[in-house]
Amino acid sequence: MVGGALEVKQSWVARKFEGTWDDQPDVALTGALMNNAWTLVNEVDAAKPLRIVRPANGYSSSNLPGASRSTPQWTQDAVSKVWSKNGKNYGWKANYAIEFKDGVVSVIGKVKLVPVGALVITAAMKTKWKSQIEGYWNKVFSAHRKACGRGDACPCDFGCCLYEIKVVCKFVDTGEYTTVNVNAGACTGPWGSASWWYSDTWWESWSNNVPKSVRAHEFGHNIGLFDEYKGGATAASVDPNTYKEPTASIMCSGTSPMSWHFNTFLYVLGVMHKDKYKAVKRKRSP
Ligand SMILES: [Zn+2]
Ligand SMILES: [Zn+2]
Repeated sequence: MVGGALEVKQSWVARKFEGTWDDQPDVALTGALMNNAWTLVNEVDAAKPLRIVRPANGYSSSNLPGASRSTPQWTQDAVSKVWSKNGKNYGWKANYAIEFKDGVVSVIGKVKLVPVGALVITAAMKTKWKSQIEGYWNKVFSAHRKACGRGDACPCDFGCCLYEIKVVCKFVDTGEYTTVNVNAGACTGPWGSASWWYSDTWWESWSNNVPKSVRAHEFGHNIGLFDEYKGGATAASVDPNTYKEPTASIMCSGTSPMSWHFNTFLYVLGVMHKDKYKAVKRKRSP
């Protein structure tokens, strides 16, 4: 070594450990000087602790402009198999709130259920339907800061840059974003008929011609998501002639939420925090 000061600039990001938010807002820093054999020469504690501040709690209601979705309908020619727009639109009511509370992001839909005919909707039915919806959507993805230096593999599921996402179905009597008519029994089909599931038309129970994820799929429409199968209410950017259906997706024929389902929700969160987020698969088990 020669005399004089050597400055080493290191690019790094801080990480906090589970349970340190409430009682230990500050992290002590220690700098270590090593010789060229990586033996410790000197160790100095920083004069000031590093303060890591979690974003403040916040709530953003009614985030979908117009509180509805509208998208072109496509039909396929039986002979040529070519899809073309038929001049009509799919339209439906939709909206959502975004809440950030104590490190958890909630995407909230508020649905008013209206029984059709003699059906009586009990509290137990609402509880069951809520779990049928949230069981598919909830706690599958986390919101991760795009700027995190640890990248997508960031293990910090403790609340400094990676936040659990909950999807919450609230059945309300007032202040609803959407209204859903609930029919007694199960639908008989076929797809597209009056006896079928829609964002605003649900059924008391399942039938064999629909997947068990159908209520969660329709709730997805209620919070503004599009279909992901040809001939459905797909996003305006989708051309069925070239579209590759994501078959595992709950908005297609599968049962899984996909990262892109959270793009608009996390945009709202980013505006709230003056930051940018992306959805990553949740790492911590429930
Ligand atoms: Zn991170
Ligand atoms: Zn659908």
